[in-house]
Amino acid sequence: MSDIRNNLKEIRRRIENASIRAGRDPRSVKLVAVTKKISPALIMEAMEAGQNLFGENYMQEAKEKIRLFAGNADWHFIGHLQSNKAKDAATLFDLIHTVDNLKLAKALNKHAGLAGRILPVLVQVNVGGETQKAGVTPEKAEQLLKAMLELGHLNIKGLMTMPPFLDDPEDVRPFFRTLRQMAEQFADKGYFGPHNSYELSMGMSGDFEVAVEEGATLVRVGTSIFGTRPA
Ligand SMILES: *Cc1c(COP(=O)(O)O)cnc(C)c1O
Repeated sequence: MSDIRNNLKEIRRRIENASIRAGRDPRSVKLVAVTKKISPALIMEAMEAGQNLFGENYMQEAKEKIRLFAGNADWHFIGHLQSNKAKDAATLFDLIHTVDNLKLAKALNKHAGLAGRILPVLVQVNVGGETQKAGVTPEKAEQLLKAMLELGHLNIKGLMTMPPFLDDPEDVRPFFRTLRQMAEQFADKGYFGPHNSYELSMGMSGDFEVAVEEGATLVRVGTSIFGTRPA
């Protein structure tokens, strides 16, 4: 068995165990295989091992891969997104994880409308309040959501976060918990539609099990699947 197949199997097992520990249905957690700087050959290996959901950070790279694997997988945009890339983002991806300002939301809404689609998006929250990180501050998140509700071509599905990098995943747990609590409140207020269900995109190679225990529905894992990325 190839490394990638083994790694995927192991990660799925760990997600399942973390779900069970938290009393959750393992099927409520989706694994987003993060493929930034990863070659199409390795992505193909992951597909052959049953992985059909991928996350990309860079638009040009993503465009080429999505074209190559047309229709055979779902692609999520997880990188920093500028309004001038909104057209590609709004037409190529199944979910955008990183909406953190109204200008970007409006640009995505416009291009989703022109493409005749409703674009699913997450709002990225900077729960750690780190100045160098993207994401709306927790204080301004509701204001952004409220404004985004007016944008008819966006479907707000939930929240995403990139917590501070800390060696011990237990130290990251409070940030994941904060994001979940925020999402619960916003769901109660109807920001995520009438169903009271929502997506929580949180957890990476070093901390996805803690994220699952705290309610993640989308974990974004790169290195643990594909190995260390080329520089
Ligand atoms: C690169 C990246 C990941 C994956 O990180 P790993 O530590 O390689 O698992 C997850 N989320 C985002 C936003 C990323 O940029």
